[in-house]
Amino acid sequence: MYSYDVVEWGKALQRRDHETPKPTGTQVLLKLKYCGVCHSDVHIREGYFELGGGKKFHMSERGMKPPVTLGHEPYGTIIAAGPDAKDAPIGQDRLVNPWIGCGNCVRCHEGQDNHCMQQRYVGVQAPGGYADHLLIPHPRYLVDASGIDPMWAATLSCSGLTTYSAIKQLGTIPPSEYVAVMGAGGLGLAAMSALRALGHERVIAVDVDPAKFAAAKAAGAQACVNGRDADAADQIKKIAGGPIFGAVDLVAGTDTAALALATLRKGGKLVLVGLYGGEIPMSTVVMVQRALTVLGSNVGTTTELRELVALAKAGKLKPIPIEKRPIADVSRTLDQLKAGTLVGRVVLEIA
Ligand SMILES: [Zn+2]
Ligand SMILES: [Zn+2]
Repeated sequence: MYSYDVVEWGKALQRRDHETPKPTGTQVLLKLKYCGVCHSDVHIREGYFELGGGKKFHMSERGMKPPVTLGHEPYGTIIAAGPDAKDAPIGQDRLVNPWIGCGNCVRCHEGQDNHCMQQRYVGVQAPGGYADHLLIPHPRYLVDASGIDPMWAATLSCSGLTTYSAIKQLGTIPPSEYVAVMGAGGLGLAAMSALRALGHERVIAVDVDPAKFAAAKAAGAQACVNGRDADAADQIKKIAGGPIFGAVDLVAGTDTAALALATLRKGGKLVLVGLYGGEIPMSTVVMVQRALTVLGSNVGTTTELRELVALAKAGKLKPIPIEKRPIADVSRTLDQLKAGTLVGRVVLEIA
C-alpha cells in the first residue's frame, strides 16, 4: 500500500510505500476510493493549532509523531476483516466515522467515542485516508451511505458531522426563536444547511465578509449581518425581535464569541465549534444572572453520522459543490486551503 505522509511538520507530504496491513480481531480493512481534504489538516500538517492569547497546542501533545498519515474523511470498499469482525460488509462501500476512541472505556461503550480520553482518531493519532488502504478497529464505525454521492458522503464525516452534532447541543430549538451562525465559510454553510434539514428556519448568518452572504442565503440563512459592524449585536436582536435563543460559533475567535454572547437571551446557549483560537473573558456573575450556557462541541458520534446520512438520503440536506482531484494533489490542495484561495471542497480520488 502507499500513503501520503507528513514526514516533517510544516513540509509537503511525501508518498511512502508500506506493507498492506492484515486485519486481526475485530479490525476491518478498506480499499479507499475517496478522502476529503479538511481545513484542519492544514493546522495538523503545521504541527500545531493556535489557542489564542499567543498560545499554541502542538500535535505532539496529542501523541502525534511524524511520519503520520492525515485524512479523516475516508470512503472505500471493505475488502477484509479480522475473525471477530463478524458483521463486516465485505465487498460493500462504506463511509467511516473517523472519530474513534479506545473502544474500552465507559464513553466508548456509550457510543461517545468523541469524548474518550484515549482517542485514536483516523488521520490524527491513527493512520488516515491519504492512502490507498485503511485499517479501522471495528465495523461499528462504518456507515452505509449508499444512494448519495460518495464524495459528498466523505465530507459529511467531518464538517457535516461536526456542525450537525453542534446544532444538536442546542437542544430543542423553539420554531419561533432564532439561531445565529457565526462564520459563513464551509462549516457555517454546513451548519445552516443542517439547521434547515432539521426544519429550523429562523437562522441568521454572521460573517465579516459580505461576499459570503449570497451563499449563506442559498444555504438557508433568513438574514445576514456583518460581524464587523459596530452595531452587529443590535442588528441581530432587531431581526429576531429581541435577544436570541442560541448561537453556533464556527470561528470561535475572541470577537465572534463576544458578539454571540452579546446577542443571547436569558437561558441562551453558545456552542463553540471553530478552532480559530480566542478567549472568553466574562464575569461569572453575568453568566449566572443571564443563566447562560457556553459549551464546546467536538466532532460527533457514529449515531449522529448515521442520522446525518439519513437526512442526506431523504433529500433534506443540500449537497455542496465538490471538486475531485487525484490523491497526488494533496499537498497542493493543503497549500491552497492555507492560502485561502480554494472555493468549495476538494475530495481526493484514490486510484
Ligand atoms: Zn476535518
Ligand atoms: Zn474510550
